[in-house]
Amino acid sequence: MRMIDIDERMPLIKAIKGWARTEDERKLVQIVINTLEAAKTVDANPVKHGTWSTCTCSECGEKWGPRNQFTRRHYQYCPVCGAKMDGEDG
Ligand SMILES: [Zn+2]
Repeated sequence: MRMIDIDERMPLIKAIKGWARTEDERKLVQIVINTLEAAKTVDANPVKHGTWSTCTCSECGEKWGPRNQFTRRHYQYCPVCGAKMDGEDG
């Protein structure tokens, strides 16, 4: 699944409606707009990306785990702040 921010794209889609030359083209773009506005929404939070550096989360600064290698291997997410540990190694 790929989530997008439709509110960000809607001005462009509405502008496309303004470029329509015929009534049929305007109706078609309006169908697209109606379909997008009626789409189911989900709660989504931006994902923080971090790294482990000597067992310390780059995002919240909390120390976690007994050894750096162990922490990197077993914690793909920081248990404290939830950062996804897929950034570059620190
Ligand atoms: Zn953290």
